[in-house]
Amino acid sequence: MKFSTKAIHCGEEPNLKEGGCGDVVVPIHLASTFARKEVDKPTGGYEYARTGNPTRDALEKRLAELENAKYGLAFASGLAAETTLALALLKKGDHVIAFEDLYGGTRRLFDCTLTNFGLEFTYVDATNPENVKGAIKSNTKLVWLETPTNPLLKLCDIYAISKTAKENSLITVVDNTFASPYLQNPLNLGADIVVHSTTKYLGGHSDVIGGAILLSDDELYNKLKFNQNAIGAVPSPFDCFLVLRGTKTLAVRMDRHNYNALKLAEYLNTHPQVEKVNYPGLKTHSQHELAKKQMSGFGGMVSFYLKESIGVGAFLGKLKLIALAESLGGVESLINQPATMTHASLTQKERDRIGITNNLLRLSVGIEDIEDLKVDLAQALQESRVDSSD
Ligand SMILES: *Cc1c(COP(=O)(O)O)cnc(C)c1O
Repeated sequence: MKFSTKAIHCGEEPNLKEGGCGDVVVPIHLASTFARKEVDKPTGGYEYARTGNPTRDALEKRLAELENAKYGLAFASGLAAETTLALALLKKGDHVIAFEDLYGGTRRLFDCTLTNFGLEFTYVDATNPENVKGAIKSNTKLVWLETPTNPLLKLCDIYAISKTAKENSLITVVDNTFASPYLQNPLNLGADIVVHSTTKYLGGHSDVIGGAILLSDDELYNKLKFNQNAIGAVPSPFDCFLVLRGTKTLAVRMDRHNYNALKLAEYLNTHPQVEKVNYPGLKTHSQHELAKKQMSGFGGMVSFYLKESIGVGAFLGKLKLIALAESLGGVESLINQPATMTHASLTQKERDRIGITNNLLRLSVGIEDIEDLKVDLAQALQESRVDSSD
């Protein structure tokens, strides 16, 4: 089956067997526990809903199919998935190499929480695979990548880095939230594990928090599955239903996100008040060729630097349609100032070093009509010009 078909049908096949009622949509199974006829035989394989329940099973099966993975595990948030992954696969003294341009919350988890448990992190500019290679130490266990990154839309070569990692017996994890499984499948490129915040494109409607881990390795899966239950950061059945529902329209939404984002990136790129635009779909993006190679579309995220002639606060205040909010991947367009919002947990020095300055804005381009989005940006840029009559 092709992607759009899998996204609608996998995990949600109607039960037409004796006793099944043929629902075309998987029910929201609210039961926290499942009765059994005999002491050693759980009915239908279910015992207690933290361990597993039918709605979550449907979601896990669907997400695994979408990433061409053998196994899927759903979590209460993207960070719950990441925490479980780290606690399940790493131990005190282990070293992790991570892309320096990561989601702010991931860096906070690594630097403020996991370091307290004796884990060690080194951040590198993974746009050059050699930098990952150069950071490998005797205690390195795992490489953590994100591509495209947040908020600078940098890419890393999943194939090249996974190959180096494999040669050194390291596990490669890719946070595939920004691309979504519709545009990029890291497991096909050699990565071992994919992580998602399903809060974003997979859910797609800004109404649920969730996370997932997808993989095909039996041994790693068994450790993660055990810890999904042992740690217990699982999603509610209702949240599983929302993400399941979101996935059905992922393909059509992403096509529109791609279209709108490219149009806005091109528009901003030629605007006299805009200093620079970061979007992998632009020919001017330094990694445009890599984007074409490992992604089937360039996604809905655009970031850009305003010139000094624009008051950033005024610009954000003048936007009427595009809401000033954190998060991304929903049908509605959102804008954010990473330096004060999503990436406020980084130190000023660290932000300056990687280029997260106050005039950088991150746009999650929604699926509204492109003309309305352009008009909104145009009027806000026009209205927020600083008086330059010196
Ligand atoms: C949002 C996000 C996360 C964290 O997910 P939550 O669902 O908010 O816990 C991780 N990685 C990326 C790239 C994200 O955008």
